Amino acid sequence: MTIRYLIALLALAAAFAAPARAAAVPGKDVPVVDKIEAAGLPTGRHDFYLSVAARASGQPYLVPVIVLKGAEPGLRLGLFAAIHGDELAGIRVIHELAAGIDPKTLKGTLLMVPGLNQPGLEAGNRHFISGSGSGFRTDLNRTMPGEMKGDAAERYAADLWHGVMAGQVDRVVDLHTQTRGTAYPLFVFADFSNAVARQMAFDLMPDMIKNDPGEGGTVETTFMKSGIPAVTFEIGMPERFDPALTTRAHDGIINLMRRAEMITGRAMPPARQPIVGSSYSNVTTDEGGLAVIHVALLDPVKQGQLLATLYDPFGREIATYRAPHEGHVLSVATDPRREPGAMLVRILR
Ligand SMILES: [Zn+2]
Repeated sequence: MTIRYLIALLALAAAFAAPARAAAVPGKDVPVVDKIEAAGLPTGRHDFYLSVAARASGQPYLVPVIVLKGAEPGLRLGLFAAIHGDELAGIRVIHELAAGIDPKTLKGTLLMVPGLNQPGLEAGNRHFISGSGSGFRTDLNRTMPGEMKGDAAERYAADLWHGVMAGQVDRVVDLHTQTRGTAYPLFVFADFSNAVARQMAFDLMPDMIKNDPGEGGTVETTFMKSGIPAVTFEIGMPERFDPALTTRAHDGIINLMRRAEMITGRAMPPARQPIVGSSYSNVTTDEGGLAVIHVALLDPVKQGQLLATLYDPFGREIATYRAPHEGHVLSVATDPRREPGAMLVRILR
């Protein structure tokens, strides 16, 4: 037995004999708070966990919050991501903004939540999932501003609203993606009846914009009702960080911050004008099957143009689907499996 072999053997024995090391807890140095109070914070970056609505185990959900407090007073911009728990792109956008913006050169406050729906994030699901009723699923983005005396999802929404949203911001960009099995380009929902929201939509430099009054219970409409201009920013597909789109979304938010004079530099007009519409139609399946989509995002389409073909399990054609009107392709199915009534193509006009 050589000395070297003996040393190696002793080291191996020592490794097995060593006591279990405590697991490192990422972010364990982050303070846990019940409410974000950005106004009183000094210049710099501040990370918090917002404690939200206790679970059945008695433990609270911890929602990450990043505050960049500028050296000078100015606008307070709120960026919220993943209220739909599988729509992850906005989380990456927030992380890049937090890493890249120096609070010493910032005017105002950037308040960012990279993960509003923690139970949805954990489960890889759009919805808030509660233990009640063998797992109720609630769309938090139809539940805002929540209800303090409501069910678990409504209380969670209310804790978010009162803990990190209401009274904290002057402008809001709520970050989303299309739902699972489908894709958007870079796309903004905005209510043009509010001139500031309209300008925000263009400043984000998306491929497409839909002007509409929004749906009840969303982050966007809840802020708009309380007098805060807000838009919904859709960044491609769920369940991924696509650098091409997250970089463009990041740059759009930087552009919006320049317009708001939060950071220096001139707001740029977009390199390419977005396609703007005020309505869209969903082309949906009549029965279940496997779809081949014949158009791509942003394609112009004419009325009657072939959009999709549906096949049965043997590859036999079931049906073809055509454009009901002219417009541009806003969304396509990326998952070929289509249930009856599922979207194949969405056309903006
Ligand atoms: Zn969404």
